[in-house]
Amino acid sequence: MARAQFEQALPHADVSQMVAERLNFPERAVIVAVPLRRDDGTIQIFAGYRVQHSTVLGPTKGGIRYDAGVSLGECAALASWMTWKCALLRLPYGGSKGGIRCDPRALSPRELERLTRRFTSELVREIGPQTDIPAPDMATNEQTMAWMMDTYSMLVGHAVPEVVTGKPISIGGSIFRREATGAGVVMTAERACHRLGFELAERRCIVQGFGNVGGVAASELHDKGATVIAISDISGGLHAPDGLDIPDLHAYVVEHGSLAGYEHGERMTNEEILELPCDVLFVAAREDQLTGENAGRVQAKLIVEGANGPTTIEADAIFAERGIPVVPDILANAGGVTVSYFEWVQDLGRLFWDRDEIRGRLADKMIDASDRVWSVSEEKGISLRLSALVAAIREVGGALETRGIYP
Ligand code: NAD
Repeated sequence: MARAQFEQALPHADVSQMVAERLNFPERAVIVAVPLRRDDGTIQIFAGYRVQHSTVLGPTKGGIRYDAGVSLGECAALASWMTWKCALLRLPYGGSKGGIRCDPRALSPRELERLTRRFTSELVREIGPQTDIPAPDMATNEQTMAWMMDTYSMLVGHAVPEVVTGKPISIGGSIFRREATGAGVVMTAERACHRLGFELAERRCIVQGFGNVGGVAASELHDKGATVIAISDISGGLHAPDGLDIPDLHAYVVEHGSLAGYEHGERMTNEEILELPCDVLFVAAREDQLTGENAGRVQAKLIVEGANGPTTIEADAIFAERGIPVVPDILANAGGVTVSYFEWVQDLGRLFWDRDEIRGRLADKMIDASDRVWSVSEEKGISLRLSALVAAIREVGGALETRGIYP
């Protein structure tokens, strides 16, 4: 799918054959066998991967995931998407991705720590603040990054906070990193509404997913005066035509773990809330939510992808035919990697910014990238998704053309 999208975008990107061929391959792929001493004393070996797609613009950057589905091919595809996301936001990075093929729920916290530390030591020559900077992804979090940072620092002999992002603030993490993706999603939505000739405030919105991305996006919408008429999480959906009380819902989820049992609003299924009439639909839960099956029944004027890959290729074609714009994931959810970049810059400079400065800089980047994507779309008459890819390929392609091929 990553390659198919790349090939679809190439004819619009005006890059040379050399650039097209070079960017079709990741630069480096590493497979390591990671031995773990289980709590019962036995040793189990896990496969670990790290793929670095492009170093044309700078060091590579990308998440580390712990999941039974992790493979070399999956990491390669995700690494190339990270290249396009970073390039689109004009961050001085290429993309990477890695992880360990394991069932993280079957491992104790001590086992996860030993696995993370050994994996980091296996990768000590591959990662580094000037070469490849990991971040959290599926089933990894701030604590995982703290273990990676500590292990790397022990091996090189001094503290290196800038080797990972998404760390706890106490060891060099950035203020606003947690909120960055959800806030960025709403910034790109605001820009899209503006382009379409209406304002996001006072509009009726639906948010699928109430976690890190969807939960923050819902709060941002609420703060801006938009009406969130429906939300959902893994336990199902909630609908209130006059608007849901988002702060109250957050307090409820903190106490009860999910939306299940919340007393206000009408209960609905996850599928049903996607099809309610609204102005803006935010899909911020997971992949493959808008499909060839339900896309024809979606009644939104605009769709914004907070999650990665929530719209299938079939659904994309239906939305194009119906004239419903889709703000694509590589633009809409790029706020997270953008504030990760700010975290790295702050760590390198040993100088930390306040919340307003970070938020302001994030808004500048999200608006600039949005405007470039909308301009390509208008100029070429192609979808926002293809336009985002074209804008990104042009950034990397231009730099590669200028640098040339060594030797
Ligand atoms: P999360 O685990 O914090 O939240 C996911 C939310 O979706 C939860 O509320 C969960 O209950 C809900 N959910 C799961 N399945 C659902 C379903 N079928 N229908 C409705 N809701 C469902 O995860 P997150 O960090 O918010 O990530 C969400 C998406 O955003 C993922 O695709 C992720 O890759 C992407 N993303 C996250 C970040 C980030 O910084 N967290 C950055 C870029 C992209």
